[in-house]
Amino acid sequence: MARVVTFSRNVFIPVTDLCRNLCGYCSFRRPPDRSRVIPRREALQIISQGAESGCSEALFSMGDRPWEVAGRREELLHYLVELCELALEAGLLPHTNAGILEEDELRLLAPYNASMGLMLETTAQVPLHLGSPGKVPRVRIEHLERAGRLQIPFTTGLLLGIGESREDRAASLEVIARLHRTHGHIQEVIIQGLDPKPGTEAQSLTPPGIQELAQTVALARRILPPEVAVQVPPNLADPRPLVKAGASDLGGISPVTPDWINPRHPWPSLERLRERLSGCTLRERLPVYPGYVLAGKYGSRAAPVVALLADGDGYRRPPGS
Ligand code: SF4
Repeated sequence: MARVVTFSRNVFIPVTDLCRNLCGYCSFRRPPDRSRVIPRREALQIISQGAESGCSEALFSMGDRPWEVAGRREELLHYLVELCELALEAGLLPHTNAGILEEDELRLLAPYNASMGLMLETTAQVPLHLGSPGKVPRVRIEHLERAGRLQIPFTTGLLLGIGESREDRAASLEVIARLHRTHGHIQEVIIQGLDPKPGTEAQSLTPPGIQELAQTVALARRILPPEVAVQVPPNLADPRPLVKAGASDLGGISPVTPDWINPRHPWPSLERLRERLSGCTLRERLPVYPGYVLAGKYGSRAAPVVALLADGDGYRRPPGS
């Protein structure tokens, strides 16, 4: 039987590029005098385009604790909730990655989200994270724990090539596996290589090659429980050898918006991916994985949209059916 490789169809909505961190590889963050919060009208336009294009996911992303740079915590959090509500009204399921959140902030957002996310990146302390209080490994692990206690279906992952060793990668995966065994909330782990962007501290670093990515995918497959998917973004590396090594998911692919974190890398079309992954069956899922859909584990406000979009196996129902 052909191997199933999943993906979701999404729109990427950068809520704000304000961020308290100063990661040495970042080209997304802007200083307060040049930063922006996406206007409601612009967000709504992206959401509408996503709905018209058959997407199921609205990926809301923003810098880490922007209110520590510019204040207005309540205002920004409630705006985020409002954007989630707009997405749900349009028939899209929110997946929010809003950096480190306290428990009350997670509780506020979780009901509106099908799933949420935060890259662990690494449990090692690396020089590229020196200016980033939100990248202290303990702080990120605590966030993953909070999400687990609240039973939020969760996406996390490793960023490779930022100064961590192979042993660090194994240790990071062991931490994620332990968290999942305790809480049962990790739906997928992204294995992603650094994209050293010009003008950043990381610009002269050599990104991990395909062989190293494949070795890490295989390592992840060995360490993680079988129900936790290994995801590889197909705009950053050829997915074929990575699927061969054990990856089973391609993440969100957008027919509408760019990858705002890696804007130099456009999404391949689904036709191109089908060609590259001939021998596999590409199957569309929702931003919450089938097992969680069938178990009814997702934000309560997202339930009516999950019911509309999911098929009997918990995958995406073909649009229009
Ligand atoms: S947390 Fe994200 S947005 Fe903030 S500096 Fe680091 S990479 Fe950039």
